[in-house]
Amino acid sequence: MSAPLNPTGVSTCGSLYVVATPIGNLGDLSPRALETLGRVAAICAEDTRHTRQLLAHFGVEKPLQALHEHNEDEIAERLVARMLAGESLALVSDAGTPLVSDPGFRLVRAARAAGIKVSPVPGPSALIAALSVAGLPSDRFVFEGFLPAKAAARRERLAALSAETRTLVFYESSHRIEDTLADAVAALGAARGATLARELTKLFETVLDGTLEDLRARVAADVNQRKGEFVLLVHGAGEEADAKVIEGRRLYAKLSEHLSPSTAAKLAAELSGAPRKALYGG
Ligand code: SAM
Repeated sequence: MSAPLNPTGVSTCGSLYVVATPIGNLGDLSPRALETLGRVAAICAEDTRHTRQLLAHFGVEKPLQALHEHNEDEIAERLVARMLAGESLALVSDAGTPLVSDPGFRLVRAARAAGIKVSPVPGPSALIAALSVAGLPSDRFVFEGFLPAKAAARRERLAALSAETRTLVFYESSHRIEDTLADAVAALGAARGATLARELTKLFETVLDGTLEDLRARVAADVNQRKGEFVLLVHGAGEEADAKVIEGRRLYAKLSEHLSPSTAAKLAAELSGAPRKALYGG
């Protein structure tokens, strides 16, 4: 199948809009997302009940088509045929950006292969939201999605990542957060700097940072810190990941509010044990 053209050579087929939806706070649905959802012929949704509630909140009524990992291959072909016939469709997931640890890849691939325009309506994603507040190096990072559910496979994956120098980003659920933190301490080292972002944009939003061991102990000690949805970010391997450097940077940030940068760096280095040159510009 390929996109039909009218006599002037312009495509007559519809488009597929990949629309990001809130990860908690409904105020994060963009005006363009709302306008797009209101304009398309139908919305492909991971869980139609969940999306119906979102749409009801915004007063949008649209036919919904369930699209999840078990039916995506089969449904994608039918949806592509509808778009080739002229209908525009939107794709959403339960929360955040479709295709990011969510269904949609097969539909997008099939639409692109058929010459259909696939257009993003960007917005929330827990990955980027967490990275934006973690205070860990973000110029390069590795998104690992969910670690394997089985303990042996999870430990193997973490061990394979132990020498990775870029910031590591994982999605995690409340069922496994304790085990994942314990396994991360074992595989990546207790002193590795990390940030745990929980329930972002929601009532109980919490962003904890410290060493992996700090986070493990904090979550183990407080049942509330095990509730909700999590993004775990871990400093990459190497000198930068050293707990002393993290502490030194924290001290430097505080001291430099009152002292010159060089005096603040000298004091922060003395107090933390981190090399002075590692504290400038961090
Ligand atoms: N596509 C989504 C996105 O763009 O963020 C992610 C979908 S994935 C199935 C769901 C996972 O994302 C959760 O288990 C959690 O790890 C993370 N997540 C989603 N919402 C979150 C939030 N408000 N705060 C922290 N993590 C969240």
